[in-house]
Amino acid sequence: MSIDISIEIPRVLAGQTVLVMGVANEWSLAYGIARACRAAGAELILTYPNAAVEKRLRPLAEEWGARCLPCDVQNDSHIKTLANELAGVEIHGLVHAIAFANKDELRGGISQTSRAGFQLALDVSCYSLIALMQHLAPRLALGARVVALTYEGSTKVVPNYNVMGVAKAALEATVRYLAAEIGPQGQRINALSAGPVNTLAARGISGFGGMLKHHEATAPLRRLTTQDDVANAALYLLSELSSGVTGTVHFVDTGAHLLGPTPTVE
Ligand code: NAP
Repeated sequence: MSIDISIEIPRVLAGQTVLVMGVANEWSLAYGIARACRAAGAELILTYPNAAVEKRLRPLAEEWGARCLPCDVQNDSHIKTLANELAGVEIHGLVHAIAFANKDELRGGISQTSRAGFQLALDVSCYSLIALMQHLAPRLALGARVVALTYEGSTKVVPNYNVMGVAKAALEATVRYLAAEIGPQGQRINALSAGPVNTLAARGISGFGGMLKHHEATAPLRRLTTQDDVANAALYLLSELSSGVTGTVHFVDTGAHLLGPTPTVE
């Protein structure tokens, strides 16, 4: 089930600039968010971590009239350069839709996680938000809004999600600490907890197809979460429609987080 966002979106971001990090391709959650922000009137700035993503991103950026800049969040010099490139730009919205873990860590048990794999997942998927907030602080407008993408595996055991669940728990805690820190400037930050959506990153989780089937069959709305569901919720958090909301984890998962254990024993 899909919702046509191109004609429904109110222009709640007119005259505003939104930096979207994490568009890998047209299936990315960040792609849907960027498209919705553009429909809402925002100027877009997009980032790419490497040449392969740049190749896919450039045509999209051109279509949207967006700036397109490099930033591998594992590299402090990339983040500093991004901040320098954006000198004179006032950022009203920042989208953190970045995560990574080695495929080997997204199967089996968490006890098999390597030290290096743990550090990699936490660095890319959580510390990157801190580093970005640190270096981009002078570019963030008073009243700027930040959204970071998370998943329910942060608080519940989801088979094979493993170290990424730990990274998302850390990310959500980071969002709360940042909310307290930036709140006095009128700036807000929230986490958006999406249901499973078939993207490049998600396909790295062992058994992801089964997760999708289970979600569709059991979620209260009896359907999968769509890219547009996530984009619309992000637009709410990135605009003044959510004024007064900060430090929260907002679920956009067709209700799946409500469910307790399924009784299978009579
Ligand atoms: P995606 O399209 O694969 O996006 C993930 C992005 O992170 C890619 O652009 C990826 O680039 C980028 N990235 C990885 N390492 C990076 C680095 N060092 N520097 C900069 N960027 C880097 O997958 P997605 O599902 O839309 O993921 C977006 C966010 O949503 C993630 O935080 C994910 O955990 C979260 N989320 C996803 C789901 C879901 O089911 N899809 C559900 C809940 C939350 P490369 O392609 O080069 O690696």
